[in-house]
Amino acid sequence: MENNKKQMPVLFIGHGSPMNAIENNNITTEWRNIATLFPKPKAILCISAHWETSGTKITAMEHPKTIHDFYGFPQKLFDVLYPAKGSSEIAKEIVHLSKNEKIDLDYNWGLDHGTWSILNHLYPDADIPVLQLSIDDKKSPLEHFQFASTLKLLRNDGILILGSGNIVHNLGEVEWTDYGLSEKGHTWAIEFDELIKELILKRDFDSIINFEKLGLNAQLSIPTSEHFLPLIYCLGMTDGNDKISFFTESLIGGSLSMRSVVFGSI
Ligand code: ZN
Repeated sequence: MENNKKQMPVLFIGHGSPMNAIENNNITTEWRNIATLFPKPKAILCISAHWETSGTKITAMEHPKTIHDFYGFPQKLFDVLYPAKGSSEIAKEIVHLSKNEKIDLDYNWGLDHGTWSILNHLYPDADIPVLQLSIDDKKSPLEHFQFASTLKLLRNDGILILGSGNIVHNLGEVEWTDYGLSEKGHTWAIEFDELIKELILKRDFDSIINFEKLGLNAQLSIPTSEHFLPLIYCLGMTDGNDKISFFTESLIGGSLSMRSVVFGSI
């Protein structure tokens, strides 16, 4: 890996509904805008909430398939293809970089909607290689953070890190009649979203990693951790020099935080 190039930013993006892939709304407008604020990456490494595995895997195929990992949505969403290439070369470099942590090359997965629903807006031409790194369901949040920090150097090699999840993700508490109304939200969701924002700004990453100790608001906001862990990957890949800024700061349906974060200069 080269060390002397300008660092790419790290993005955490709250992905919300898969329908964002094909909608043009306030959220997707901001997604499209953010990609214009930094150089085009050499490749993208996405940590998606939707790929949990036993052990860590990285996609290593040259042509990852578009995975439609949802049901009950309109046919036009199933018709979307995101034909970005993969890169077995970069996958192997990442395996090498992560010497102390075993990463298996994967030839079966592809790009799930946590990845392509966002990239369809950031890079609609699908002309940048995309790899996915899975979330090992046996690791603790601290282990995820520590593992992520070993991959920080990728940013110096033109690779954009994209964490795709949601800071508040409680589908059981979504108020479907108010879906899309960002001004409404459960109090616990608003408070937890705001708390995480403050902790990120204070760089109090320990408190975020130990989210299970953050009380009832955290329990309601993170009923299962897979949508929160991509944020922890992003925290692991930042350093003290990174500027921190937020975008798409809204709640959808009262219990889905779309808050997204840029770490690094843009
Ligand atoms: Zn999701």
